[in-house]
Amino acid sequence: MTIPTKVLARKDALHKLINKYNYLYYTTDNPEVTDSEYDRLFHELKQIESDYPSLLTMDSPTRRVGGQVLEKFDQVTHTIPMLSLDNVFDDEEFFAFDQRVKDWLNTEQIQVYIAEPKLDGLAISLRYEDGVLVQAATRGDGAVGEDVTANVRTISDIPLKLHGRNVPGVIEIRGEIFMPKGGFDALNKQQIIDGKKAFVNPRNAAAGSLRQLDSRVAASRPLEMICYGLGELNGLKTMPVTHSEAMALVADMGCRISKELQQVSGVVSCLEYIKQIGERRESLPYDIDGVVFKVDDLQLQHRLGFVSRAPRWAIAHKFPAQQEMTVVEDIEIQVGRTGALTPVARLKPVFVGGVTVSNATLHNQDEIDRKDVRVGDTVIVRRAGDVIPEVVQVVMSKRAADVAAYKIPAQCPICDSLAERVEGEAVLRCTGGLYCAAQRKEAIKHFASRKAMDIDGLGDKIVEQLVDESLIGDPADLFALTNEQLAALERMGDKSAENLVNALNDAKQTKFARFLYSLGIREVGEATARSLALHFLALDTLKIADEAALIEIEDVGPVVARNIVTFFGQVHNQVVIERLLDAGVTWPQEEKLSANSELSGKTVVLTGTLEQLSRSEAKEKLLASGAKVAGSVSKKTDYVVAGLDAGSKLTKAEGLGITVVDEATLIEWIR
Ligand code: NAD
Repeated sequence: MTIPTKVLARKDALHKLINKYNYLYYTTDNPEVTDSEYDRLFHELKQIESDYPSLLTMDSPTRRVGGQVLEKFDQVTHTIPMLSLDNVFDDEEFFAFDQRVKDWLNTEQIQVYIAEPKLDGLAISLRYEDGVLVQAATRGDGAVGEDVTANVRTISDIPLKLHGRNVPGVIEIRGEIFMPKGGFDALNKQQIIDGKKAFVNPRNAAAGSLRQLDSRVAASRPLEMICYGLGELNGLKTMPVTHSEAMALVADMGCRISKELQQVSGVVSCLEYIKQIGERRESLPYDIDGVVFKVDDLQLQHRLGFVSRAPRWAIAHKFPAQQEMTVVEDIEIQVGRTGALTPVARLKPVFVGGVTVSNATLHNQDEIDRKDVRVGDTVIVRRAGDVIPEVVQVVMSKRAADVAAYKIPAQCPICDSLAERVEGEAVLRCTGGLYCAAQRKEAIKHFASRKAMDIDGLGDKIVEQLVDESLIGDPADLFALTNEQLAALERMGDKSAENLVNALNDAKQTKFARFLYSLGIREVGEATARSLALHFLALDTLKIADEAALIEIEDVGPVVARNIVTFFGQVHNQVVIERLLDAGVTWPQEEKLSANSELSGKTVVLTGTLEQLSRSEAKEKLLASGAKVAGSVSKKTDYVVAGLDAGSKLTKAEGLGITVVDEATLIEWIR
C-alpha cells in the first residue's frame, strides 16, 4: 500500500510531539499541554498506525510506556514490567473492551471485574523482603525505574515493615503515590508565598516531590499511597487466585488499598460503578481521572497477557477532561460593587469539565504577572465541579513573537477615575465610588439580590438599563420608579412593568438582617449582617455604635468594624438610608434571643434530606436562632442534623463523637 506523503509527515510530526510531551511530563514533571490534548495526539497516531500497519514501527511512542529514568537516581530493573493501561473514553468503547476479553478467552460468560478509581499520581513498586521495605522504584520506562526508596520511606501511609504472620519472602506491592487535593492547595499557596512556581496539578506536584534527591523535600510534602496490584510474589504458602484476594492480602499486611474497591460482574454493573464514582468525583479527597477495571481471576489475567505497553486484562475508562487548551482572545476589566477592578480573560469557547467555558477570571495584576498571561496566548484552562474556571498556565511554546505583557489600566475603564492599590490588598480599586456607573450598577444589583432585598423580576439587565438611562442612581431611587418608566424599557411590557412595581412594593417588608446585608457594606456578608441585627436589634443603635462596641460581636474583627463605622459616617449613605425608610422599607422588630437557647452560638451542619423543612428554611431558622450553619463537619461542629440518606458527613460526625439529632429535634429547638 502506498502511503500518502501527508500521512508520513503527520506520523513523523506526531512522534516528535508525543516524545517531547512525554519528556516534559514524565522526566521533568512539568507538562506543557493538557492530558486531553496529549490523548488526542496519541489516538491520532494509533489511528494512522491502524490504517497503515507498516507505520507501527518499533520506535513508535504507542508501543512504549512513557517515561525515562533520570540519571541522578540509581536504576532499578523491574522483575515484572510495570505497564501502562489502555484507555476508553465512552461506554461503547468499554463494551468493545469487554467483548475483546471474551473473544480472547473464547467465552460469552459474564466477566467479573475489580473496579476502583484511577488515581492521578505516579506508579510505584514497593519491594519487601521478609516483610521489610528494601526498595521503592518509579515505573520509568516500564522495564527500568528510578530508586526513590529514601523518599518513599518518608510517606506515613507506607509500612516500613509488613504486619501479620502471613508475610511472604518477597513481595512487590504496586500502587499510586498521589497528593490529596487539600495538601496540593496548601502546598501551592506556600509555593506562591515563597515566590516559587506553583504546580500545575496534583499529579505533577506528587511526581515532582517524589523525584527529589533530598528526601527532606519529599518528607515535607503531603504524599499518600494507595496500593492496587502486585509484582513479584514468592514464598507464600497459599497464593491468591483472584485480584480481590491479592488486595485483601495487601491490606492485611498493613498497606492502604482503595476504599472504593469493588467487585463488579458484567458491563452493566461496570457502567453503574462509573456513574456512581463520577458523581462523587468532586467530593473525593484526591484527583482521579477515571475508573480502572481489571479481570479478577488471576489465571484469566495470565491467559490474556499483554500487548506492548498495556495488559489485555485491564482498562481505564477515562472521565471528561477538567483541563483543556484554548486561546485568550482579550482581557477585559470588570468593575465590582466595591470598585475592585478584576481582569477577566475572554476565551475562545472551549468544552471543559462538562460545560463550555468562554471566560476565566485572572484575579489581579500579581496573578497575571505570575502566570504571564497575555492577549493572544494559548492557555490551559481548568474547570472542576462547580468551581469557577481558571487559567492554569500559558503554553509558552505556542506564544507568538509580538505579544505584549498585559497591564491593568491605571484608570477605571468605566468612569475614568484613578485606580488605586490599597496597601495590603492585591486588587486595584476604582476611586470613583458612586460616581462610577459600574459601581452603582453593582451596588443596586446587590441590593436587589435574593439574599438581600429579594426583588423579584429586577434582573441585572434591567438594572443596567435603568442606570444607563439615568432613571436610577442609587437603591432608594428604585422605589420611585413608575409603571410608565419601566414599561418603556427594552423587552418590558405593561404587565412586566406592573409586576415589577408590585415586587418593589412587596420587597419593602423585609428583615433587619436582610436590609443591613443589602446596603453592601464592605465585608459585611449575610452572617455578619445577621449577627449585627441580633446584637443591636435596631438600626438607630447600630448607626451610632463605635468600633469598640462592634468588635464585641463574634465575627466582627477590626477591619469590618472600621468599614461599618465608615459606612454609617458617610453623608450620602445616611441620605440613601433615610430615603429608603421614607419610601416605606420596614421590618419587624428583632427580639433578643433568650440566652439559654439550645442553639445560640452553636455550629450546626445539615446533612441528608429533610422531610418537613426545606434546606434553606432550616438554615434560615437556625441562623435566626443564633446558630451558625457550616457546610462541613469538623471538630468545631456542635450538632449535626441528619435527614434521610445522610452520608459521609454523618459518618464523620459519628467518628468525631459529635451529637447527631434528627429533624424532629431540630423543629422542637427552632420553635
Ligand atoms: P495512564 O495514566 O493513562 O494509565 C496507567 C497508569 O494509571 C498506571 O501506570 C498507574 O500509575 C495509574 N493508575 C492509577 N490508578 C490505578 C489503578 N487503580 N490501577 C492501575 N493503575 C492505576 O497511563 P500512563 O502511561 O501513565 O500515561 C499516559 C497518560 O498520561 C496519558 O493518557 C495522558 O493523560 C498523560 N500524559 C500527559 C502528558 C502531557 O503532556 N499532558 C504527557 C504524557 C502523558
